[in-house]
Amino acid sequence: MPLYEYLCEECAGIFEVVRPIREAPEPQPCPECDEECERVMPSSFSAFIMRQGYPRRIPDKGTYWHLGQEVTYLPKKARPYEHPQVTKRREQEPLSSQDYVDLVDRKIHERRLAREDRRKERELKRDRMAKKAPERKPQPQPMKRD
Ligand SMILES: [Zn+2]
Repeated sequence: MPLYEYLCEECAGIFEVVRPIREAPEPQPCPECDEECERVMPSSFSAFIMRQGYPRRIPDKGTYWHLGQEVTYLPKKARPYEHPQVTKRREQEPLSSQDYVDLVDRKIHERRLAREDRRKERELKRDRMAKKAPERKPQPQPMKRD
């Protein structure tokens, strides 16, 4: 089976999947965050570079994602739910730390539900396709004449 590349917009990462040709156009869930990822066509990107252990698309905008918000760097001391750039934004609309935790929990919960829905959809689609395309019997090949 051939190897295909998929780009996760969420993680800005490229991953590879070995799958049958007929499944190649189907979106593939990201192994990191489970977002649906589109296939990277060989013509749609020319290169990517590795930066801090992550593959980055060229042109590399140089941004990262932290709790769904674009930030320009990843904090060196990683404390969950905290990033100086995100925290700054939080100060603009004051939220108690409990509100903030609730908000994050809600977002995580929403994403989990959306992910479940997509998973169910994919399974339904797969079932439908399996019903539509039953295994073909090999056709008798005409005899070769020498
Ligand atoms: Zn991802």
